[in-house]
Amino acid sequence: MERQILTLRIVGALFIGSCLLAPTLWQPALDASWAWLLRRSLFNASYFETLWTVSLYILFESYYVSLATTSKPRPPMPKRVDQRAGRAHLWKNGTVRVRKLRGRLSELVVYVAPLLLLDLILIKKFKGVAWQDIVSSGGYEPHSLLNATYSSPANIKSTNFLAPSIHNFSFSSPLQLTRALPPRPITSRRLVVELLSSLVLYDALFFVVHLSLHKIPFLYSKLHATHHDHAEIHAQITNRLDLGERLLLVLTANFSLQIIGAHVMTRTAFVPAFVLFLVQNHCGLDVLSYDKILPKGWGAGPSVHAQHHRLGTTGYAPYLRWCDDLYERLTSSRSNVEAQRRKDSEKMARLLDKTGVNSD
Ligand SMILES: [Zn+2]
Repeated sequence: MERQILTLRIVGALFIGSCLLAPTLWQPALDASWAWLLRRSLFNASYFETLWTVSLYILFESYYVSLATTSKPRPPMPKRVDQRAGRAHLWKNGTVRVRKLRGRLSELVVYVAPLLLLDLILIKKFKGVAWQDIVSSGGYEPHSLLNATYSSPANIKSTNFLAPSIHNFSFSSPLQLTRALPPRPITSRRLVVELLSSLVLYDALFFVVHLSLHKIPFLYSKLHATHHDHAEIHAQITNRLDLGERLLLVLTANFSLQIIGAHVMTRTAFVPAFVLFLVQNHCGLDVLSYDKILPKGWGAGPSVHAQHHRLGTTGYAPYLRWCDDLYERLTSSRSNVEAQRRKDSEKMARLLDKTGVNSD
C-alpha cells in the first residue's frame, strides 16, 4: 500500500500543480467536456445533481460492502478497523452483517423523495448564468425582472444566490424541470481552487453541525442517534440517517458551494469526492482512503470515524483533523485551567487549615 500511496501523492501533486500553474494545458479538454455536457438533456435537468449523488453513492457503497463481506481468501478482506467485542454482529464467516439490496428500496425512496421535491419546486441559481436565463428556467417571463420587487418571487435578481426562489407553476410549466447553466466552461485553476475550498468549508461547517448534534441532547436523540445505532461499522451506515440529518448534510454541502459561487463544473466534481470520502469514513476497513494520501495527521478517515462511532467524543469533522484538533486543544486547555484552579483552591484550603484560619 505504501507504494500506491506514494504514486497517488505524486500523481495528485502533478495534477493539482499543473491545474494551478498551467491552466492553458487543460483548457481544451475542459472546453470540449463542457460543450458535451451542455448538449446532454439529463445534465440540463433540475434533478441531475440528485441522480448524480445517488448513483455515485450506490456505486461506492456497493464496492466497500463487497470488500467488507468477501469471504474469499484472495484477495483477502482488508483489516477491520472497528473491532467490537463479541461476534453477534458478524456473519458466520466472520464478515459484517449488511442489509440486502432488495430490502433497501424504501430507504432509496426516503432519501431521494425530499431532494427531488426541492429540485422540482426551487429555481437553480448558479454564478455565471444570465439572470434572464435563470428567470426563464423558473417559468417566469424574462421581462418580469423589470417589475420585480424584493418580496416578489420573481425577483431573483435582487435576492442572493442562497435565498430560495420558487418556480412559477402554471399549466405550461407545472414543475421546475430544467436548470439554467453557464455558457462558458471553467478554468482548471478555478476548478481546483473552488473544489478544495468548498470541501474545506463543508468540513468546517459540518464539524459545527455534528458537534451540536452530539452536545445538545435533544438534537442527538431526534436527529443523530439513528446514525450511531449499529453494531460494527460498514459502508451502509453512511446512509443510516434520520431525514432531518440527511437534509442537513445535503444543505450544508450545497451552502458550501453556493457561498463561494462555485461553477456547475465544480459542483459536478464536488459530488464524487463528497460521497466517496463519506463512504470511506464508514467502510470500517483499513483501505487506501483519502486520509492516507493527504499528509500525515491531516485527514480523518475510517479509523478516526470508527472511533467516533464507538465513543462519540472525538472526530466530529467529516474529512479533516484541524477542527477537532483545535476543539480538543481549546477544551483540554480549559479543563486543565479548571483542574489547576481546583488544585490551587484545595492547596489554599489545606494551608488555611494548617494555619488555623478555617477553624474559626
Ligand atoms: Zn456522530
